[in-house]
Amino acid sequence: MAYERASGLIVRTYDWSETSRIIVVWTRELGKVRLLAKGGRRLKSNFEVALDLLTVCSIVWLRKPSAGLEILTEARAEERFPALRKDLKALNAGYYIAELLGDGTQDYDPHPGLYDAGLTALRSLNDHSDDSLGTVSWFEWSWLRESGHLPVTASCVHCSRMLEDWRASETTGFSTSGGGIVCENCRNSYRDYRVLEPTCLSFLTNLDVYVAANWSALNPSARRQVRQVLSDCVVYHLGRMPRLLNYLS
Ligand SMILES: [Zn+2]
Repeated sequence: MAYERASGLIVRTYDWSETSRIIVVWTRELGKVRLLAKGGRRLKSNFEVALDLLTVCSIVWLRKPSAGLEILTEARAEERFPALRKDLKALNAGYYIAELLGDGTQDYDPHPGLYDAGLTALRSLNDHSDDSLGTVSWFEWSWLRESGHLPVTASCVHCSRMLEDWRASETTGFSTSGGGIVCENCRNSYRDYRVLEPTCLSFLTNLDVYVAANWSALNPSARRQVRQVLSDCVVYHLGRMPRLLNYLS
């Protein structure tokens, strides 16, 4: 057995026994790990201050070579997001991000880019909670990219015709099952084809870098469509509806 050390975000905790808890930590170095915090339910445990959901901790644990629970031996809080506790909308957005981190990847499957995106999103929610849906949209885009499911936005997913070669009057469509935009010629190839507003497409194609002003500039109908497209993609690739999705708006 060897000791491991990492920084990570607590994405889930649940009771294990009268005195112990399991914590699921999303680490930058090693991906998701599940650890038994012995005494983690006692008020005066060694970990008391560090084991809250959405806390970034530096942790040490005993890694086992075979299956079985691994034991947390040290935890120290490094960063918290206190403003989330005062704003239910932002808090639910934070829990949603934790859910996607926790359930969208396997144990010990590191994605440093996704870890960084999660922290960037939580910091943004903490500082600008009025913009929570814009931040969530950007995080979903990062999550889709890191899990290899980023929607295609440069060419039709069916015929590969580049968007710049489409007729000026041509309607842009989108198919979740097809994995991106669909031209008019191919619209009958997808049962889940939907027309995409140009402002919605332009927002999505600029989502690699999050610019809060881009979200603020969207009209309500384009915002609804962005949310619909992204949440459909997440549900499709996660294989189920995230528990927190309905609490976002
Ligand atoms: Zn096409």
